[in-house]
Amino acid sequence: MKAFHSIKWRLLIWQAVLLAAVLATLMTLHYQAQKRDLTAKLDAELQETLMAVMPAIAPPQAAPRPDSKPRARITPRRPEWSTNEIQAELKSRGIYLLSAGPAGLQQYGDVPAALIRQTPRPVKQPVQRTRDGYRERIHSRPQMVMVIGKSLDEVTAKMATVLHKLIFIGIAVLISGFLVGWIIVTRSLRPIRAISRTAETIAGGEHHKRIELSDAPDELASLAQTLNESFDHLDEAIETQKRFTADASHELRTPVAVVITQAEAALKKERSAEEYKGVLEACLRAGRRMKTMAESLLELTRLDSRGAVLSKTTCDLNAVVAGAVDSGSLLSEKHPVRFQSLETGPAGLHVHMDKERIHQVITNLIANAVQHNPDGCEICVSLTKDGTIIISDNGIGISAEHLPHIFERFYRVDASRSREQGGAGLGLSIVQRLIEAHGGTITTVSKPGHGATFVITLPLA
Ligand code: ADP
Repeated sequence: MKAFHSIKWRLLIWQAVLLAAVLATLMTLHYQAQKRDLTAKLDAELQETLMAVMPAIAPPQAAPRPDSKPRARITPRRPEWSTNEIQAELKSRGIYLLSAGPAGLQQYGDVPAALIRQTPRPVKQPVQRTRDGYRERIHSRPQMVMVIGKSLDEVTAKMATVLHKLIFIGIAVLISGFLVGWIIVTRSLRPIRAISRTAETIAGGEHHKRIELSDAPDELASLAQTLNESFDHLDEAIETQKRFTADASHELRTPVAVVITQAEAALKKERSAEEYKGVLEACLRAGRRMKTMAESLLELTRLDSRGAVLSKTTCDLNAVVAGAVDSGSLLSEKHPVRFQSLETGPAGLHVHMDKERIHQVITNLIANAVQHNPDGCEICVSLTKDGTIIISDNGIGISAEHLPHIFERFYRVDASRSREQGGAGLGLSIVQRLIEAHGGTITTVSKPGHGATFVITLPLA
């Protein structure tokens, strides 16, 4: 039964069954045609013999009318045959003849006993029949019935030879078909073995290994390509995961070190209340940073595993952006925030979104502009007619070398400065994941000294 679980054996068994069925059909047809042919030959021999001897054993028929055509078929070759000659001739050919007429029953050759017991009845048309291993022809003349027959032994012996030949040819074709099928199937399935071997190697830890199939059939080549692409993604995911874990532990180590160092220093000797207050404040700042980072990490993990539940509703984008600008403008008095809406349609711009999260995205971007730019920097939030949200500032900007990386996790242009301000370099990663979770995009353009611009597009409802 194990064979049925293997593709190779299933294919081979099906092929063998089909081949055997086709061969059996063809061989049966051929066998029957041969048998029909031999029987027809025997019938012709019986008829010819009967026609030849009939003038000698049957009374002449009524003379044909002058206008009717002569019946050439029954012209005897030797009408003058004697009874003994007929006996000898029929015996030598293994043919028997029984005639029942006014002169009674007459037998020629070795007539089977069963036939003598049942005197044949007259027939309107000549009849051919197979009976007890004999082929017979019954022919009636006025007041006379003749039965001529011959044993089928010869036909049976010839058919047995034909059958043996057919069985031999059939087995030979079946075996060669099976062998050819085996070679073809084994060759076709060879790439699958290569694929599973490579997959095992990769599972064993060699993540950079890939399936190499140069001469595989199209279907398997595309399977290998798909698998290789999946391995690439997995490899990338594993690398990202490793980097992420390393970065996260590195980032968390700093505030933990601050807490430990401050506490150890404070405990070394008796301190004034003012000094204890300073230590506690430093520990509190470090604790807050850890809390923010832990929350950001949790949020990113949820977004990555699609576990973040977005409660989406269809709402007016203008109102959501205006609300976020109001909240953002409260962050700093020294960074004025302006809102400019070009949306003029009477129906408004409707987007299927989690409005809390979109609010969070816009306030995060305003907070970044406040956090990373000096006092007096202006921030402008615009909403275009097609629902694009643009958050720009005229601050320090981001240089070209940093621009492609700012959405990466833990990436900061000025790490020490950003860390001091409490940033872990996760804000833009979360913003990007949230926009992607809404089916939108976020891009940025910037020139050092000329501010930074973030462009968000969201699919309209
Ligand atoms: P964080 O703000 O915690 O440092 P983010 O992921 O929010 O991390 O931002 C990544 C980096 O992008 C920041 O460190 C900052 O240097 C830079 N950045 C983001 N927004 C702006 C901005 N509006 N102007 C200048 N630099 C910015």
